[in-house]
Amino acid sequence: MCNLCCSPTHIERRGFLKALAALPLVAALPAIAAEAGIDGYRATFEAVRAEEDGRSLFVIRRFRQAGEHLALTVDPSTLKTEIRPDLKLIPERGFDRSTPYLDALDAATSPPYPTENAGLRRARGAVDGYFLTVDMCPSKKPFESRFFAGLASHGSGPFPVAISISGYWALEHEAEFASLIERQRIGELDVTWVNHSYTHRYVRGLPDRQNFLLMPGTDFEEEVLKTEQLLIAKGLTPSVFFRFPGLVSDAALVIALRRLGLVPLGTDAWLAKLQKPKFGSIVLVHGNGNEPFGISKVKPYLADPSVRWLGLNEALTA
Ligand SMILES: [Zn+2]
Repeated sequence: MCNLCCSPTHIERRGFLKALAALPLVAALPAIAAEAGIDGYRATFEAVRAEEDGRSLFVIRRFRQAGEHLALTVDPSTLKTEIRPDLKLIPERGFDRSTPYLDALDAATSPPYPTENAGLRRARGAVDGYFLTVDMCPSKKPFESRFFAGLASHGSGPFPVAISISGYWALEHEAEFASLIERQRIGELDVTWVNHSYTHRYVRGLPDRQNFLLMPGTDFEEEVLKTEQLLIAKGLTPSVFFRFPGLVSDAALVIALRRLGLVPLGTDAWLAKLQKPKFGSIVLVHGNGNEPFGISKVKPYLADPSVRWLGLNEALTA
């Protein structure tokens, strides 16, 4: 499935065990999380009310940072995620079951469970624009710097883009990752930070059913939570979206993702596979340097002033 996006960095089956043993990055997260003072990071799913503004929210994670008790919350109406002091969140017994967040969680994690491209592939409602998603799978190549610079100078206001971060890409491309964060900070990009797993394991030649996160020995929850901690350690807020590496999953993974409160993000317009976007499409390109063909295919759409680009949360709220 993922022969286009990741091939130059994929681990050959023969050298797989050797390569795994040689991955010093496995140890990198504890150092980053410790440096940022993060500990006790855990998943939960609880309805709460914010003391400050009375808003109903869901807490999906709890953790401590520099001794402070914090929560990662989701606004079920807007899908906006925030990191808030846990002490200012009051537990609620009941909650509205028909909100965009819960509706999307149910719809995107219900059967059938195709091995490829499960989850949200396009906007749930009618919209007159596209959603740009950019995957950052592990890669030895430099990222698409001109592409990101083009997004940053695209027009008035920050450009809405969802960037799917894998932990191993972030750790191996510190300066490039920092440049994306900086573009968000100065208002050039409006980034929805999507979780793309931590190690993004892949062995060339294995069938999808035994590959990516379906590979034996995968700790799925760890793949999800470690990436979130990496984002938080960098001052970012993880979104409600998760993109399966290779777009490959099964029922057990999708149900586990539902329990973690995250929405699986598919695509109906992987440009390098010559899929054409329509209104409401979730467009997929790779920004990690491994799929320049997809970047070349998105350029005409970016150059077309009649094309509207929308923030990914609107795929669930519009
Ligand atoms: Zn990937």
